[in-house]
Amino acid sequence: MSGSLVIAGLGPGAEELITPQVSEAIDKATDIIGYTPYTARIKPRPGLTIHASGNRVELDRSVHALKLAEAGRHVIVVSSGDPGVFAMAAAVYEALETGPVAWKSIPLQVMPGITAMLAAAARAGAPLGHDFCAINMSDNLKPFHLLEKRVRLAIEADFAIAFYNPRSKSRPHQFERILDVFRELCEPARLITFARAISTADENLHTVTMADATADMADMRTVVLVGSSQTKRIADTEIVYTPRSAS
Ligand code: SAH
Repeated sequence: MSGSLVIAGLGPGAEELITPQVSEAIDKATDIIGYTPYTARIKPRPGLTIHASGNRVELDRSVHALKLAEAGRHVIVVSSGDPGVFAMAAAVYEALETGPVAWKSIPLQVMPGITAMLAAAARAGAPLGHDFCAINMSDNLKPFHLLEKRVRLAIEADFAIAFYNPRSKSRPHQFERILDVFRELCEPARLITFARAISTADENLHTVTMADATADMADMRTVVLVGSSQTKRIADTEIVYTPRSAS
């Protein structure tokens, strides 16, 4: 029997935001591999083995998945949101590229999911309605000076910006430093939306101006959406949107 490997996105949290394609693949799988909070979202059933692992072992997890698929299992590597956005798809391809040649003939498919910034933007209104970019603030995988350079250039280009992994206990001051960059380069009325645990029971969304933003408004379950210079709030509402034409 030949195995297969799927790298699937589970969406931001709500069951109904998992695509039918991913649900069907999960129903047919023999093995699920992923970071513990994500594998916890999979219902156990007879015939399904769930392999939960820690956050910083992406390459080990990828090698494990490829070995199981090579041995004939039907394996799904799960990520939250979309697997191609700061998640497992690139890690699996890195393992594939550097691993045994035989791995290249394993049937492999990436199944997209709804990424956090899109789920958050939909709740806020349409803050990503014009040009935008996404930046991962985790500095495990890149140095701070590169992060800061990208933020400065994105502000100069007047993109709306979605920040993933904005803040953690191991690097509490980094987000503060990024807010300082915005305060240096942007007007104090620039809008910033903190979208936490979107589509889950813990969901919390609020928009403030850059002048009122503090680093403790974000944690690791928050995606932060900073508007462009054109992003505005509709008077007497919480609705935030970016017009489709730039001036
Ligand atoms: N692949 C995922 C991102 C993984 S990085 C995706 O496409 O969404 C993890 C970061 O995603 C978190 O630190 C947070 O910034 C963001 N995130 C994931 N789920 C979220 C949710 N339900 N609400 C808000 N932010 C979320």
